[in-house]
Amino acid sequence: MTSRTMTLRDRITALLRTRTGEEFCAACIAKMLDVRHKSAHQAALKLEASVAFRRQYGRCSTCGKTRLVATALGPTAAPPD
Ligand SMILES: [Zn+2]
Repeated sequence: MTSRTMTLRDRITALLRTRTGEEFCAACIAKMLDVRHKSAHQAALKLEASVAFRRQYGRCSTCGKTRLVATALGPTAAPPD
């Protein structure tokens, strides 16, 4: 039940953060989180507003297709002192 308290966006954020630097298309995100493609796509769109994430055309780390992918920028988003 705990995962139900998280929004889909939270779940995508958590997924991308654990796989920093890897790129995922909406289809693969949907598959990994067991949600509809459309839901994953819409949630991924919202990540664009965050500086910690990027969406661009690239090769999906999971399916290998070149399409719009989302990636967590990782440690570079929080520069070291
Ligand atoms: Zn994919």
